[in-house]
Amino acid sequence: MKRTAIVVGAGLVGLGVAAELMRDGWQVTVLEQGPADGVGTSHGNAGMLVPSHFVPLATMGFLKTGLRMMLKRGAPVTVRWRPDADLLGWVTRFTLSSLAGDEQARTQALLRLSLASRDQWERWADDFPNLARPGGAGLMMIARTAHGLEEEAEVGHQGARLGLDVEILDADGVRRRQPGLDVHCEGGVWFGNDAHVAPHEWVQAMRHSLGSNLVSDTKVLGWQLSGDRWTGVKTNHGAMSADHVVLASGFESARMARSLGVNMAIQPGRGYGYTLPGGARLTTPSLLVEDRVSLTPMGNALRVTSGMEIGATHQAPDPARVAHIRAGAERVFPELAAADWEQPLWTGWRPLSADGLPYIGRVPNLGNAWVATGHGMMGISLAAGTGRMLADLMGGHWPSVDPEAFRLDR
Ligand SMILES: Cc1cc2nc3c(=O)[nH]c(=O)nc-3n(C[C@H](O)[C@H](O)[C@H](O)COP(=O)(O)OP(=O)(O)OC[C@H]3O[C@@H](n4cnc5c(N)ncnc54)[C@H](O)[C@@H]3O)c2cc1C
Repeated sequence: MKRTAIVVGAGLVGLGVAAELMRDGWQVTVLEQGPADGVGTSHGNAGMLVPSHFVPLATMGFLKTGLRMMLKRGAPVTVRWRPDADLLGWVTRFTLSSLAGDEQARTQALLRLSLASRDQWERWADDFPNLARPGGAGLMMIARTAHGLEEEAEVGHQGARLGLDVEILDADGVRRRQPGLDVHCEGGVWFGNDAHVAPHEWVQAMRHSLGSNLVSDTKVLGWQLSGDRWTGVKTNHGAMSADHVVLASGFESARMARSLGVNMAIQPGRGYGYTLPGGARLTTPSLLVEDRVSLTPMGNALRVTSGMEIGATHQAPDPARVAHIRAGAERVFPELAAADWEQPLWTGWRPLSADGLPYIGRVPNLGNAWVATGHGMMGISLAAGTGRMLADLMGGHWPSVDPEAFRLDR
């Protein structure tokens, strides 16, 4: 008889877990609180698969840059303070992680999962033959100042030492990789292992392939537990059960996991984006170093995203931060001034863990409850590898990537 699992959350991480469990012969039901064709965080993001982002968010470097940035109005990174013990606890744990001195170990863990995930994405492209394979132009980090280039080149050298394909380029070198475009910059760093996808297409295709095993408009409200076993979920449409459960509900996972006895430090990191029709002359996905604006060609459109408002849940968008997206993009690519920016503003919430690593593993003290969340700014990059890792663990096999660093009780 097939083993059965309920996955809570149909973002790309939950879908990735479902896909890999089904590959291993499980019968899976995915519960999603939103509509089947929703437009959540996994849809409108920049779609970059980024082994280049091997440095976890919680580091001394980010602490310094982040603090410096926060002093400026409309800066891409900020904390949206509110009287909330969870937010305060998260900031404390983030600061302690940044100072802990284990950056190298976390970097190695992140990079291993990221590279495995990049390979796994190619296998997904075989499973979903109507979808474009991940685009292989790499990622260009573009700096418009000498200082920005110097800092990014340092990351590039570190990446090369870790075995990544890296080129440090002057302004002409950057322009050669964006043929026909006027690029105002000092130089850039090109990461050849990176790739990109159109995440909304992948989410929709994966949801579609689940057929009636995707149960949308169904919100999980609580758990049924008996001793050291999870026995069912309570939803707005009644109770449901399976052999195992996986919690993959993005930034909302921490709150939901608490009643399973798990204390994860996760805060939403809200970001913004526009999808500009016809703005796709850019051939290499790019990230602007100083302004933290990312630009990804997607079909005939260009997706431009930015912003990291830590702790922001549903406050109104900050007009200064929204204006920063367009200003940042146009500073480096002046021709974008003619693009059609009258598009709806998209918002999404990154599930930010305090130490910059996702939580992937079994709930301590419960034999059949699992979690996959906290992927922060890398949920698309890491979804495929996360799915494989959790399917291996749930099947009783040791995964090809060491799961230790991602344990829930770390
Ligand atoms: C501006 C921006 C740009 C980004 N760019 C990139 C990028 O280039 N590359 C990259 O790798 N990552 C990127 N990210 C991060 C990435 O989007 C996230 O890490 C990823 O989408 C998280 O996926 P998830 O499945 O964990 O969560 P989500 O996509 O949030 O999915 C969780 C799902 O769970 C559902 N859910 C929640 N609670 C319940 C409940 N009680 N019952 C049932 N369902 C529930 C939600 O409705 C949702 O559909 C970006 C994010 C932003 C905001």
